[in-house]
Amino acid sequence: MDIIIKQSYPETGITDDDLNVSEVSCKHPINPDDYVDNPTDFEEKLNEDVYKLVKVANTHSCRHTCYKYRKDKVCRFGYPRDIVEESTVTDENIILLKRLSEMVNNYNPYLMTCLRSNHDIKFVPSGKDGYNIAFYVSEYAIKSQMSTQQIVPLICVSKKQVDVSYTSSSCSERTRMLINKCLNRILTETEISAAHVSHFLLGYEDKKKHLTNSHD
Ligand SMILES: [Zn+2]
Repeated sequence: MDIIIKQSYPETGITDDDLNVSEVSCKHPINPDDYVDNPTDFEEKLNEDVYKLVKVANTHSCRHTCYKYRKDKVCRFGYPRDIVEESTVTDENIILLKRLSEMVNNYNPYLMTCLRSNHDIKFVPSGKDGYNIAFYVSEYAIKSQMSTQQIVPLICVSKKQVDVSYTSSSCSERTRMLINKCLNRILTETEISAAHVSHFLLGYEDKKKHLTNSHD
């Protein structure tokens, strides 16, 4: 499992601590086609790429949000985490994966090079966590668009903003701003599930259809 889930920096020859986040994240992944004749070079370049990405995206640094709702100065995400020299299973059957860096968040090197952003990979075999994740994912997949009762408060907020910021503007200008703000707010707050996006991309309509009896 520690081949899939990593909790240490990849071993490389580089020790660049002054990395630019956007420069590293916006680069393309290392292309294996460029190293067909030299797979060792590919592994090395991939390792360097992953090292830089983990440095800029998957290394935790404690800030005030870590101590939110806490009286003591203990990070609520559990950092710094204990070093584990070799993966092991404890007497209580708890799997402790190899960890050589106390501030690196769990990642997968191949996901890292493709996603190029932070992620948190976990092994979820079953039990309460498995149930919670199934529930969480299903909820995302079936998320519906906003209902009228969710949209109305957003329109109210936009109206208040226009009333405060455009008092001396003409009626038509205020109307234009109100429509603009309402649209911006509704679009920003609307979440669309992947299932819903696929539905649109496949060319299906966004309306409910009623089955009608046909006498044909
Ligand atoms: Zn922290």
